[in-house]
Amino acid sequence: MPAFRERISQQLVARQTAGLARRLTVVAASNQVEMSPVGMSSAAQTWVNFASNNYLGLASDASVIEAWQQGLDRYGAGSGASPLVTGFSYPHQQLEATLCEWLGYSRAVLFNSGFSANQALLFSLLEKGDHLLQDRLNHASLMEAGVLCAATMQRFLHNNVQDLANKLAAVDGQTLMVTEGVFSMDGDLAPLVEIAALRSANTLLAVDDAHGIGVLGTQGAGSCQHAGIKPDLLVVTFGKALGIAGAAILCDRQLGDFLTQMARHHVYSTAMPPAQAHALVHAIAMVRRDEWRREKLHELSDYYDQCMRQVAGYVATPTAIKPIILNASEAALRCADFVKQRGIWLSAIRPPTVPNQQARLRVTLSALHEKSHIKRLADVLGQWMEAPHEH
Ligand SMILES: *Cc1c(COP(=O)(O)O)cnc(C)c1O
Repeated sequence: MPAFRERISQQLVARQTAGLARRLTVVAASNQVEMSPVGMSSAAQTWVNFASNNYLGLASDASVIEAWQQGLDRYGAGSGASPLVTGFSYPHQQLEATLCEWLGYSRAVLFNSGFSANQALLFSLLEKGDHLLQDRLNHASLMEAGVLCAATMQRFLHNNVQDLANKLAAVDGQTLMVTEGVFSMDGDLAPLVEIAALRSANTLLAVDDAHGIGVLGTQGAGSCQHAGIKPDLLVVTFGKALGIAGAAILCDRQLGDFLTQMARHHVYSTAMPPAQAHALVHAIAMVRRDEWRREKLHELSDYYDQCMRQVAGYVATPTAIKPIILNASEAALRCADFVKQRGIWLSAIRPPTVPNQQARLRVTLSALHEKSHIKRLADVLGQWMEAPHEH
């Protein structure tokens, strides 16, 4: 076999053997609370979806859909070009202005995904000789960009301000500190106040708030507003609580000018469809206005604690992300299958997404859930715990 093919085949087999291979499932109504597999008979099973990041329920919201349709009628299908050519139109400008006003920044630079925003941020801002200090549990997009960027990256212990301070004191030159606001696999909050206090003239702080935006803070303004800090760079993504897709980096005028010129994922990538930007303006207005969605999440979270406290692996979190730590990848997989057969869909999260021996179930709550859904989850997990032969 040619060397390329051999290597690819070996890596695929290794994934499989380690029990780490993942599967694509075609799902109908993946943005709703009850979803079903595509192509099954009328007796098709449905699952309660505890795996999405649709925290506020906007991904299937009728008025968000209507706004997107209205955007299509007004602006057509695609943007036709990258932003600095002719792809930047009125709804993009309106989206940027809306983000700035909501989150208290002078500039917002739009991207097609959080993944590309994070890459653009680290690639354009950092030069050789700079330092990058990241929480070791930061998202894969940040880790990959950190490895590939020009700066020297060090990872500090998760949420460990002392370790970050020590590493900061030991480096010379420009240093970018990066943390998430809410950690995507653990549902815990970064110690943002303490981290922000480490800033000096030679540092910048970036916070990726993919899971905090819309969910935490006044009018859903996110982790930083909730903590009372303002990072130099705030990354927000639109595919989770906002229910759509895309991302922005919020910053001051100078950084905004710089990113607009230098961030290659912005300069050389087709701007998001104007209709999407139009729908996002609408979604942001709903996020700000609909306090009931966040209140509902709180209620569901309290109820989850009440029902799940007895379950082995349960972790209390202040967010809608609820890990159940099962350690072994095999156990996580088997448990996810067990509950799937009983009408509950949740994710088994395995290495390399989480550290070795920290495989888990990741339960996410949505404002669309009802208490009865959570009761069912707890009952089925209780059955699993009492069926040791299944483990
Ligand atoms: C989901 C996520 C991203 C990627 O955002 P996309 O818009 O889905 O590409 C980046 N950072 C964090 C922390 C995330 O959870």
